[in-house]
Amino acid sequence: MPGKCIFCRIVAGEAPATVVAETEHTVAFLDANPLSPGHTLVVPRDHAERLEDMDEKTAKAVMAELRRLAPAVEVAVDADGLTVGFNDGRAAGQEIPHVHGHIIPRFESDGGGPIHAVLPGGADQDGDAEAIGAAIEAELGDALPTGGE
Ligand code: 5GP
Ligand code: ZN
Repeated sequence: MPGKCIFCRIVAGEAPATVVAETEHTVAFLDANPLSPGHTLVVPRDHAERLEDMDEKTAKAVMAELRRLAPAVEVAVDADGLTVGFNDGRAAGQEIPHVHGHIIPRFESDGGGPIHAVLPGGADQDGDAEAIGAAIEAELGDALPTGGE
């Protein structure tokens, strides 16, 4: 069996981290190389590499914890806003192969950009929106949305 990933080791208490919150399904800790003060990561306790690898209960718990933590982080560091997001897959810049949501405090004067800054030039071609939309729908197939009440 391969060794645990670094975030599994943090969850297990085997690697150091500044843990700020723990729930049944999640652990939140400060990023070791923060983009801004208070940069926080929320991870599921159970190892999952991509968003789609989490079961529904875990995915809901991660989202709920991001939502709970976001205002606390913002107030704690007196930020003006937050960038909240996931790098999902290596091509998107995911370096640690264990799902983690970033809560990045943002300040009016931080000089950073919006999420659109990840691809500053935008797409060379937008593609055929109709065909892409149809392909996404086809890929979803008959799978029902889950999580609705
Ligand atoms: P990614 O690029 O995979 O979305 O982001 C990984 C994040 O994890 C980076 O912001 C990086 O600074 C952070 N990170 C990497 N290794 C560790 C670690 O051992 N401890 C903590 N607390 N953060 C880490
Ligand atoms: Zn892991």
